Amino acid sequence: MQRHKLGNTGLEVSRLGLGGIPFQYISQTETNELIQTSYNRGVNLFYTSRMYRDSENKIGLAVRNFRDQVVLGTSTHKRKKTEALAEARQSLSNFGVDYIDIYSLHNVLTLSVLNEIMSPAGAYHALEELRSAGYVRQVGISAHQPETILRALEMAAFDVVEFPLNYVDREATEGLMEELRRRGIGLVTIKPMVFGYAGDARLALRYIFSQKPEATIVGVYNLNELTENLDTEEAASSDGLVPRDDVLATIAESEKKCEKVFCRRCETCVVCPQGIDIRTILRWYEYFDRYHSWDWAREQYRTASPDLEACDNCGICERECPYHLPIKRVFSRAKVDLLPRRSPRRLMQKKLLGR
Ligand code: SF4
Ligand code: SF4
Repeated sequence: MQRHKLGNTGLEVSRLGLGGIPFQYISQTETNELIQTSYNRGVNLFYTSRMYRDSENKIGLAVRNFRDQVVLGTSTHKRKKTEALAEARQSLSNFGVDYIDIYSLHNVLTLSVLNEIMSPAGAYHALEELRSAGYVRQVGISAHQPETILRALEMAAFDVVEFPLNYVDREATEGLMEELRRRGIGLVTIKPMVFGYAGDARLALRYIFSQKPEATIVGVYNLNELTENLDTEEAASSDGLVPRDDVLATIAESEKKCEKVFCRRCETCVVCPQGIDIRTILRWYEYFDRYHSWDWAREQYRTASPDLEACDNCGICERECPYHLPIKRVFSRAKVDLLPRRSPRRLMQKKLLGR
């Protein structure tokens, strides 16, 4: 397993890290097995979020015998300083550790959210306090828009950036990477499997490696998936770097499939005459449909109560969307799946979860 320096943080990280989403759906025993196996094969980066339920507890237990040999990262969705401080205390307790290596502000989607977290009562100041007190070693931010990241770097001293990089969502990231390297900021890329849409995990990873980010986070649910990812990393190391154009040519077919369904958060669809926040609803549905974060997605939907009934099917969003995504079709599924009612899909999910 290749290891890379993470910007100027002084940390050295494996180029594949494990993400926390799957751990909330599998047992402690299964989590232990995945983490121990990956650690034995050189993985030292484990990254999650407070929002992924008991994933921090499970990771903390799984690494307790080699905690000092790994890099633990987590993040908060909270935007206010007091709330972020409380979440960080909870994360320390969940992991069962004295410090967290990387603590990030999760999914800062827009400039207005960035302004909120940078305001005097905003969550960024919690990160500063935690770092001064030694509870957090490095502070990070995750976002999906390069301009949000670049603005954040003008406003504050972040050590690490988490940003999507995959063969569909690549142009923005490739430009951003150069700037992060110039500034010595560590880049941990996320969503290598295109939100679960990538047909072939090996091709998806080969593309990531061709771009040489310091690390990328994968989510795996079982040993087969883990082994496939680790073997791909090993093969990429021994074969040498496949030229980027060769990788892109090979994955062109798979890319076409992804393009039909994958929202790039480009915001062109803010033109909705009914003021529906299309991008956010598509994101909740991706989490529901691709990551099986059913409770979380329903909670977001219930709390925000978007008025999907206001959609009059005018079709403007689909005409304006540069990727021609089937937005109306996704909305009709979201109306059934995200509402807290007993749909057949809901019953199947309960059965799968055993509750
Ligand atoms: S189809 Fe619905 S969501 Fe799309 S622009 Fe029209 S009203 Fe908005
Ligand atoms: S225009 Fe299309 S790709 Fe862009 S945010 Fe809206 S749905 Fe997503």
